[in-house]
Amino acid sequence: MAGEALIELRGVNKHYGKLHVLQDIDLTVGRGEVVVVIGPSGSGKSTLCRTINRLETIESGTITLDGTPLPEEGRALAGLRAEVGMVFQSFNLFAHKTVLDNITLAPVKVRKQKKDDAARRARELLDRVGLAAHADKYPAQLSGGQQQRVAIARALAMDPKALLFDEPTSALDPEMINEVLEVMQQLARDGMTMVVVTHEMGFARSAANRVVFMADGRIVEDRTPEDFFTAPRSERARDFLSKIL
Ligand code: ADP
Ligand code: MG
Repeated sequence: MAGEALIELRGVNKHYGKLHVLQDIDLTVGRGEVVVVIGPSGSGKSTLCRTINRLETIESGTITLDGTPLPEEGRALAGLRAEVGMVFQSFNLFAHKTVLDNITLAPVKVRKQKKDDAARRARELLDRVGLAAHADKYPAQLSGGQQQRVAIARALAMDPKALLFDEPTSALDPEMINEVLEVMQQLARDGMTMVVVTHEMGFARSAANRVVFMADGRIVEDRTPEDFFTAPRSERARDFLSKIL
């Protein structure tokens, strides 16, 4: 159903010691929606991503995934967490495993898929990210852009309901950024629900349904890309945009 909330945060608060890193965060991500999160370094974007996946505990508030509140811990949490894939800045592939094995590992171990089935699916996903010919290579034999595309295929192999991306192109050489963004654009067109922390404003303009601007642990603006980029309301956002555009 269009417009239905897939990820919902209500009144989420988190501290690191005295630092109030997430302050009363309310955020709804609809099914099939692409939300780009931007903001200055240290504003809490990565913490927000990790919080959605409960890689971080929270002190108050609720996080709901597809209608089910995320529990604090335990097996139910592990199951729900597996429904949200995460792609990091530093691809985090297993260096001593082939591309194919990187992708099939979790489906076989966690989802108990048969190895043949997982391998077939992995090859389909590699084809989708343009790496069909690289299944038997090791990560070190690939460029950064290729490794990040493997990381995306690996996340997709778990059939997640949503994908979180934390600065997926920040560690890449400039000439490799587009090949990763193009894969993400295609996922967006295919209807994948995505939360994307990025400073790639071209991607935000073309793929995002909404831009969320964070500063000092708060969501300061949450608007369409068109509204945000043409007329940011807050001084913080105007200041930020003037530095990056
Ligand atoms: P962003 O991704 O927007 O740059 P982060 O979410 O990484 O911001 O960090 C927000 C703030 O929380 C920063 O001031 C950072 O130094 C601090 N921080 C992040 N992780 C930790 C941690 N594990 N322990 C203590 N402080 C942290
Ligand atoms: Mg970060």
